Amino acid sequence: MAGSTVRILVVGAGIAGLAVTRALRLKGFRPEVVEQLPASTVPGAGIFLPGNAARALRELGLDAPLRPLGDVISTQRFLDVRGRQLCAVDLGKLWDGVGESRALPRADLHRVLLTGAGGDVRHRTGVSGLEVGDETTKVAFADGSHAEYDLVIGADGRRSAVRAMSALGGAARPVGQIVYRSVVTGGPEVTAWTGVLGRRAGFVVMPMGNGRLYCYADEALPPDGALPPDPVARLREVFGGFAGPVPPVLEALETVQVAAVDEVELGCWSRGGVVLVGDAAHATAPTLSQGAAMALEDALVLADALRRSGTVRGALAAYENRRRPRTKWVLDRTRDRDRTRDVPPPLRDPLLRGRGARIFRDHYRLLVDPV
Ligand SMILES: Cc1cc2nc3c(=O)[nH]c(=O)nc-3n(C[C@H](O)[C@H](O)[C@H](O)COP(=O)(O)OP(=O)(O)OC[C@H]3O[C@@H](n4cnc5c(N)ncnc54)[C@H](O)[C@@H]3O)c2cc1C
Repeated sequence: MAGSTVRILVVGAGIAGLAVTRALRLKGFRPEVVEQLPASTVPGAGIFLPGNAARALRELGLDAPLRPLGDVISTQRFLDVRGRQLCAVDLGKLWDGVGESRALPRADLHRVLLTGAGGDVRHRTGVSGLEVGDETTKVAFADGSHAEYDLVIGADGRRSAVRAMSALGGAARPVGQIVYRSVVTGGPEVTAWTGVLGRRAGFVVMPMGNGRLYCYADEALPPDGALPPDPVARLREVFGGFAGPVPPVLEALETVQVAAVDEVELGCWSRGGVVLVGDAAHATAPTLSQGAAMALEDALVLADALRRSGTVRGALAAYENRRRPRTKWVLDRTRDRDRTRDVPPPLRDPLLRGRGARIFRDHYRLLVDPV
């Protein structure tokens, strides 16, 4: 399809929305982008990008601005609650020829993607209604204005309004986990991605440059679904008995974000000229750290499919066909890994000592191949 003739709206300027905007612009399309939040809202915490995210960023031409940011992570170490190593994965070897794994502040990644997308986002502009027709989609914006598009791309996250308004799916499904995220300065020296595994609770720490550590922890969601009112106190209570780098990190904690985790699994990702990308289509628990990589790969594949296909519908079908196997792989491996959380450590830890590195490497097997 010739780019400039297709009227495209991207809803959401997170990782998926900005990446798909960049990918479309590289193929000659001129999408509009709307974001409900003000421009002053920048994402907090950090993010870990495995090698396939680096490859996708390289294909988006964003390798150079990314490379100076954060820290390259060459090893993933798993420890038991007493701080003894269970297994270690050599990430350089795992992602050899694909890309470096990196931890960095989310705000830095956002800035790179926003610049890459041309910076032209209409902030404070939510989408409040969709009328999906045979040829075009009419969009109502929260400010009362309307417009018509050949293609609407829902990049509006796991609680996607586009998904609901186009009848592609309902609410995300809770997976029964609470996650905590924080950035710590002045913590212990940590050089590898280090995960300390308890029973139904884990604590991950990794360096992300300039003396900062990105910390990520999870525990089971209580039956009433309530989030702890004081997340710092709760982290100290749950993880107070963990060894390794955890005690000095708990000591240094100041601000903690807390959320319940949910996942999205849909029968179909498009209806008429409306399509979903990123978490809106296939959110998972963050266990494999594949959310950003999957969103970036979606962006590349969708833009390529639109460029090659004669029709929007044909392109959307091709996009979904190419993306389903990888996102399903991530969902299945995430569920596999999360099931091991319920195995008592006296049973699980010997298995991880013997075969952990192979098991964890295997979770990424399909993702090493190009998209
Ligand atoms: C605790 C936690 C830790 C994680 N850690 C990692 C990690 O280390 N590595 C990794 O790769 N992934 C990680 N992930 C997953 C990753 O954050 C997501 O997969 C990724 O952010 C998805 O990007 P997205 O653009 O699809 O959605 P989002 O980031 O949710 O962006 C959606 C955007 O759409 C906007 N929006 C929503 N509704 C509307 C509307 N109606 N109109 C206009 N705009 C709208 C939102 O304001 C938002 O800006 C983690 C997730 C969690 C929960």
